[in-house]
Amino acid sequence: MTKLADRTTRISSSPTMQVTATVDRLRREGVEVIDFGAGEPDFPTPAAVKTAAHTALDQDFTRYTPPSGIVELKRAICDRYRADYGVEYRESEVIVTAGGKQALCNTALSLFGPGDEIITHAPYWPTLTEQIKLADASPVLVPTYADDGFAIRAGAILDRVTTRTRGIIINSPCNPTGALISESDLSAIADVAVAQGIWIVVDLCYERLIYDDVPHNLPRVLAAKCRDLTVLCGSASKAYAMTGWRCGWAIGPAPVIAACGAIQSHTTSNVMSISQKAAVAALTGSQAPVTAMLDEYRKRRDQLCTWLAADARLRCQKPAGAFYLFIDVGDLLSVDGLRTSLDLADALLKEARVAVTPGEAFDAPGFIRISYATSLDILREGTNRLLEFVKAHQGEPAAAS
Ligand code: GLU
Repeated sequence: MTKLADRTTRISSSPTMQVTATVDRLRREGVEVIDFGAGEPDFPTPAAVKTAAHTALDQDFTRYTPPSGIVELKRAICDRYRADYGVEYRESEVIVTAGGKQALCNTALSLFGPGDEIITHAPYWPTLTEQIKLADASPVLVPTYADDGFAIRAGAILDRVTTRTRGIIINSPCNPTGALISESDLSAIADVAVAQGIWIVVDLCYERLIYDDVPHNLPRVLAAKCRDLTVLCGSASKAYAMTGWRCGWAIGPAPVIAACGAIQSHTTSNVMSISQKAAVAALTGSQAPVTAMLDEYRKRRDQLCTWLAADARLRCQKPAGAFYLFIDVGDLLSVDGLRTSLDLADALLKEARVAVTPGEAFDAPGFIRISYATSLDILREGTNRLLEFVKAHQGEPAAAS
């Protein structure tokens, strides 16, 4: 038997990426599939960003850069956060990473270790907990609830703090629920973090995808209370439709960023040079494409919710951010039919050719996640198939009362 290092036995590969891989395989086999799995924008990268990349290539900007990123991009990141949140960071407090994923991973490896407990909220993006385990620490999960809008409550998180708590990871807007943490809840968490020396790591990958004008200045709340214990992780992927470019960042105290830089200098080294130039253009150029994409996601979200309301057995709420609907399919499961949401997702793919991510991927059995980062036409077709599938398995929906 192949003997692998222990750490590989503690983690499994990304179930969210798995759905994309399955869709890709089926399509290569010639099978037509509606993809509601992919957690990535369907829009092209904005033209000005692509132009900057072409220019970088034409200028032969194709060599190594400093492992932690070019100064121009670090400045652009600092400027963006100053403009958006009113917080001040220096270039020594920023590292450019291969997406938000590497920012979070570097941070976990820099801050957490054996015996440490790291609190986060569930349902969660699976990479967060696997990275905690990769760092030899233990995830402590705080449930959030559909009937409470999956609200991330300070009280529930602080109830789980022990002397071993080393970090609290907050993902807001949350993938998969779309929920936001309120500034006051984060502020209450920050008070305890300061008192007990606990790190707060915020995954802000969906920070630009918030539908209503609600207060969500998490960087400023944390800068005011516990700047020295805060790491902000962000990404160009979702805001600028740049998932394939692999460009994200971590912002935090210089010693943490230096540790992240040391790790990165021995692992991946710099983010691809051309991507870095493209990200400069994304962050410093017109932000109109971000707003245009957000407007389109809002339209899709609202339309999708209207369509799904045709069958009350597909229970969901409008998410406040990100581009996922997290649907409670508990009414469709039974011991003698589809037993789990994983079974449901499998059957939906097999019978209706619609790919969704089962709740099991987010430690939330009984739910499915639909990504609406796809066109309205495709959403209409996929929703029709989903509604027909439910009818075929469960009969006609009860008439709306
Ligand atoms: N964040 C996206 C998702 O949840 C992309 C996949 C991943 O990197 O996990 O689908």
